[in-house]
Amino acid sequence: MLQMLYEMQQYLQEISGLDACSLQPAAGAHGELAALLVAAAYFRDLGQDRTKVLVPDNAHGTNPASAAMGGFEAVTIKTTSDGFVDMDDLAAKLDDHVAVLMITNPSTLGLFEPNMRAVAERVHAQGGLIYLDGANMNAILGICRPGDFGADMQHYNPHKTFSGPHGGGGPGAGPICVTEKLAPYLPAPVVRKDADRYSLDFDRPKSIGRVRAFFANVGVLLRAYAYIRTHGPDGLRRVSEHAVLNANYLLSRVKHILPVPQGNRCMHEFVASASDLKHKKNVSAMDLAKRLLDFGYHAPTVYFPLTVPEAMMIEPTETESKETLDAFAETLFRVTEEDADLLHNAPHTTAVSRPDEVRAARQPVLSEE
Ligand SMILES: *Cc1c(COP(=O)(O)O)cnc(C)c1O
Repeated sequence: MLQMLYEMQQYLQEISGLDACSLQPAAGAHGELAALLVAAAYFRDLGQDRTKVLVPDNAHGTNPASAAMGGFEAVTIKTTSDGFVDMDDLAAKLDDHVAVLMITNPSTLGLFEPNMRAVAERVHAQGGLIYLDGANMNAILGICRPGDFGADMQHYNPHKTFSGPHGGGGPGAGPICVTEKLAPYLPAPVVRKDADRYSLDFDRPKSIGRVRAFFANVGVLLRAYAYIRTHGPDGLRRVSEHAVLNANYLLSRVKHILPVPQGNRCMHEFVASASDLKHKKNVSAMDLAKRLLDFGYHAPTVYFPLTVPEAMMIEPTETESKETLDAFAETLFRVTEEDADLLHNAPHTTAVSRPDEVRAARQPVLSEE
């Protein structure tokens, strides 16, 4: 097990282009928090008073939440109508109180940030760090590395990227990788190798300490390890090429059904808008997502990112065949043509139709009667 964990650290470092790794965090959001605590410890050591974390307005909600939990003030950076970082707004908000800029690249719109290098250069020039939200690593495995395009730290979501696309609600993991200068602050212990012996290294005086018992969800890491070993370097690159090809193929079909405001091309996902349908027929993104369940499809993420009205995020992943993608596009078309009442009451074939999701999350009833 230690050997597997050690090798996993090495693979994740190599894929990210960064120098050190902690497997402890238990989810992407937890990785964000752990890395921000690492950054806080680093700046404390330097004696620098950095209180702010910059987050683009199309970021995942966990980014500003992690910044707040890490003791920072989250400051929003605007994105342009194309979906990219607004460089003027960045310049206006960047000063020597900024600790970290968190960026998701490819972004939540499925777009590669064209100014990535310039963004990183500006933040580094002010002494800040770049945090790469690695939820979209599925698009760039073996093609480019966050460490090469300016990231100082990143998390992975092995439940999204390596073999378990978008989790299905089960356990996840959130390993983080960082550059050399941040390595001493990583959660302890890390797995180390001396000659042919593996051990847990607790002797890390600058460490932020433990963030999780044991090594997060080792089963999730083991599955991701098997996936990485099975594919190998060339295979991982093909995974991303297929994920991107599948998404672009689907985009070319879906944009005739629902508008896709940003992008004639995409990375591994794209965001369509049901806004016109909402105005014309009072049918929402939620109605479409619920109706797709009747046809056996895993519904797209809806209402995220917040910058696209009636957003439907469509991510086919590397594993679907052309037949499945065609069938999905045809079903989506059919659903948009259906009667509004039928859609408002969907799904019709599931055991439970429309639970109150917020209440279910806040006041779960965990017993069965
Ligand atoms: C899923 C996701 C997260 C959070 O990851 P979890 O593993 O669900 O905690 C953060 N950022 C982005 C862009 C995501 O898609």
